Amino acid sequence: MYSRLKERKSTMDTDVNASSPPLVSDPPPTRELLGVQVSTLDMRGTVDFIEKLIAEGRGHVVTTVDSFGLVQAQEDSELRDIYQNCSLATADSSGVVWALGRKNTPVERVSGVDLVDELCKLSSRAGHRIFLLGSEPGVAELAAEKLNLKHPGCNIVGTRHGYFPVEDADIVAQEVAEFKPDILFVALGIPRQEKFIARTMEITGAKVAMGIGGSLDVFSGRAKRAPKFVQGMKMEWLWRLIQNPSKFSKVSRLPRFVWLVLRGKS
Ligand code: UDP
Repeated sequence: MYSRLKERKSTMDTDVNASSPPLVSDPPPTRELLGVQVSTLDMRGTVDFIEKLIAEGRGHVVTTVDSFGLVQAQEDSELRDIYQNCSLATADSSGVVWALGRKNTPVERVSGVDLVDELCKLSSRAGHRIFLLGSEPGVAELAAEKLNLKHPGCNIVGTRHGYFPVEDADIVAQEVAEFKPDILFVALGIPRQEKFIARTMEITGAKVAMGIGGSLDVFSGRAKRAPKFVQGMKMEWLWRLIQNPSKFSKVSRLPRFVWLVLRGKS
């Protein structure tokens, strides 16, 4: 079973100085949002924390939490359980940053795509073994090539596409395990990637596993990340919607997120 730090987290709700790095085995400083303890660490603190999780050598689940995932978790108890029991849940979206700001907890956005970039940089220094699982055939390989060019020495030991039947999860996890990854990035979309990670953690043997949504599409060059000014305007969701109109059902959850936050139930 993946690591459960929930009990300790509940005693650590917020206002811990994010600049002091957590001790190994200690939960990160967090703030509760819609039933999930979201980390208040900045990007630097997050990478340091994940390095410590890797050093612990146990199967840690890292989630990058966005507004859509939080709304989905209200109805999907398995996803909610994963968010609530993971070792680290970062503030992936501007919506989550906004909602925490309303609770007098200013946080830096720590998005999945930026975190993948930083952890590949870490791997190029420390040699951590990385496996990329997910996206359409060829995408993970291309992303690995591009990440290796960007971070020479980045130790990506294996890749695999994400188009396999749900019932083959254990077989795919066994394939991954052969590569003995320290870090497993899974790009299957929310909530499938989180469920895959939680259900197969013991099989893959990864020290840290994290769902990364469409990040491999971005690193491979198949999808363009929103320009910085669009990100600055907190409109990255609109950019993604224009690029991929099939995301409409996901984006349509945004008003519900705002309503849940304003209703103060968080
Ligand atoms: N994907 C996959 N297998 C599937 C369905 C989706 O590997 O059965 C991949 C898809 O190609 C894309 C990623 O999962 O690379 C999902 O990206 P998206 O941006 O939709 O993720 P989310 O918005 O859920 O974070």
